[in-house]
Amino acid sequence: MIHTHTYDALVVGGGGAGMMAAIYLSRESRLRTAVISKLYPTRSHTGAAQGGIGAALGNLEEDHPEWHAFDTVKGSDYLGDQDAIETMCREAVDVVIELEHMGLPFSRTPDGKIAQRPFGGHTHHQGQGPVRRSCYAADRTGHMILQTLYQNCIKNGVEFFDEFQVVDVMLAEGRCVGVVAYEVATGDLHVFHSKSVNLATGGFGRIFSITSNAHANTGDGPAVALRRGIPLEDMEFYQFHPTGIYKMGILITEGVRGEGGVLRNDYGERFMERYAPTMKDLASRDVVARAIYQEMREGRGINGKRYVYLDATYLGAEVIEQKLPDIADFCRTYLGVDPVHEPMPIQPTAHYAMGGIPTNVDGCVVIDDRGTVVPGLYAAGETACVSVHGGNRLGTNSLLDLVVFGRRSGLHMAEFCLEADLGSLPENPTRDVAAELERLLSVAAGEPPARLRQELQDTMMDFVGVFREEEGMRQAMDKVRELKRRYEAVVVMDKGRRFNTDLLEAWELRNLLDLAEVTAASALNRKESRGAHSREDFPNRDDENWLKHTLAVQDVDGGVRIDYKPVTITQFEPKERVY
Ligand SMILES: Cc1cc2nc3c(=O)[nH]c(=O)nc-3n(C[C@H](O)[C@H](O)[C@H](O)COP(=O)(O)OP(=O)(O)OC[C@H]3O[C@@H](n4cnc5c(N)ncnc54)[C@H](O)[C@@H]3O)c2cc1C
Repeated sequence: MIHTHTYDALVVGGGGAGMMAAIYLSRESRLRTAVISKLYPTRSHTGAAQGGIGAALGNLEEDHPEWHAFDTVKGSDYLGDQDAIETMCREAVDVVIELEHMGLPFSRTPDGKIAQRPFGGHTHHQGQGPVRRSCYAADRTGHMILQTLYQNCIKNGVEFFDEFQVVDVMLAEGRCVGVVAYEVATGDLHVFHSKSVNLATGGFGRIFSITSNAHANTGDGPAVALRRGIPLEDMEFYQFHPTGIYKMGILITEGVRGEGGVLRNDYGERFMERYAPTMKDLASRDVVARAIYQEMREGRGINGKRYVYLDATYLGAEVIEQKLPDIADFCRTYLGVDPVHEPMPIQPTAHYAMGGIPTNVDGCVVIDDRGTVVPGLYAAGETACVSVHGGNRLGTNSLLDLVVFGRRSGLHMAEFCLEADLGSLPENPTRDVAAELERLLSVAAGEPPARLRQELQDTMMDFVGVFREEEGMRQAMDKVRELKRRYEAVVVMDKGRRFNTDLLEAWELRNLLDLAEVTAASALNRKESRGAHSREDFPNRDDENWLKHTLAVQDVDGGVRIDYKPVTITQFEPKERVY
């Protein structure tokens, strides 16, 4: 059965970015706004963010948005667009105060200001050592952001379609006119007709086997956009967070190092002193993740294994219980390790997509190097690439990206909706999706999707991970293409219509395969090392040939075509990056 709905504005995703956009759509302009989310909104991955949100409030020491911008540009390995970074760092101060006014319960300084702590790559006086810039609510900052934004959405009359999975975006006559969604409870398809759509579906860490990302982070937004001819930007830049729980990938926030925790190898040595003499354990994430891999490769992993220790024992029980309560709980529950008394076994974990759907600073999707937009189509949050993170994101800058560009995209969408009429729907908008769903259900015997997914994740982890080289990436490409062929015969065991999560997992696997292919193709294409993209066969950054963004498009034959667009540089000329 097919249902039809009409709205002014649709937001796909009930995470931090989506809900911030929805607040601005509904509050300022009273537009009819709906948020469509495959999860109940407060279960979105934003809720897992622990460490904090960056803003140069200067509550505990001198700080300035310009310093924040410098750190972000340097952290990005000079690939971030500097106009966008300046906008984000400038608006950071105001947006954090806005969150406070919405009711977000930040941790406090003794005199009642928002508390701030140091984080990797954030410095004072442009590189002179760590600065306290991360605003936090204990180690539950993302959780508090989600709760606060959800309450404000409800207050403003935003309508929610929870457990509706968007499976296609409708483009007609050169503009976006809505989405097609699958209702998880019934298996029905819904056509959401609207003047504009904001894709805010979060990340896609599930293309890797060891990841901090939730099961739902399958990149549905970028995948549907890609299949409708929208390019994806800088997909080769995927961040590995240095400290995931060994074998599980569950994140231990950088806040532990921000509070003074240190990394140690098998000899008990604080090895980051060798790799980053000034910032040490608080160097940027790509630098620390590579250092850990290097230690393990040279046999200094704990007991020769593929992990090192994160040692927070000397912080004392009081600091740990007050500032890092959830982390302490995770370690006790999952590892049987009490971080008050013992070091935590950690390894790098796939964490954050710097790349995604290309947008300008107003969240409009931009498809080429001339700034051509698709009217009515927006993207925000981890799904989007503005690009404020370039080759490597600094901790605390994602939550910031969500709220700054969630807000900006909401404002711009509102203006657009006030002017625009409702475009006409494409003919038979559910045809392609319905046919593919039927096909998946009709396969009687074959391989389970979980087997293909595991092979994909292992391949990406081994060959398109922290270190990369030509031969491995070619193998990864071949493997992904083989898996795409095998996907044609995967079998969905549950043939029912209600809560058919089997079917949806198979659907999500298709998204993961498409995104993995674009990631591997973009990585193979970029013949230099920059930020998180670290090639053993091209170990140096090459500004002469590669100071440019990648735009990858899916060809009609299913292959990947690569194009480029320039990086915007305003005040910070590219320099060598030393921490
Ligand atoms: C464990 C962890 C800790 C982190 N800690 C920090 C931190 O301390 N500071 C920081 O700055 N960043 C942190 N990050 C990164 C940051 O939290 C994420 O990048 C950010 O929360 C992503 O927000 P989002 O709104 O883009 O997406 P999400 O919060 O992931 O929300 C995505 C939404 O899209 C919906 N959705 C997805 N697919 C579909 C579909 N097909 N149809 C309908 N709805 C769909 C989901 O239901 C969900 O509501 C952390 C990330 C992780 C994984």
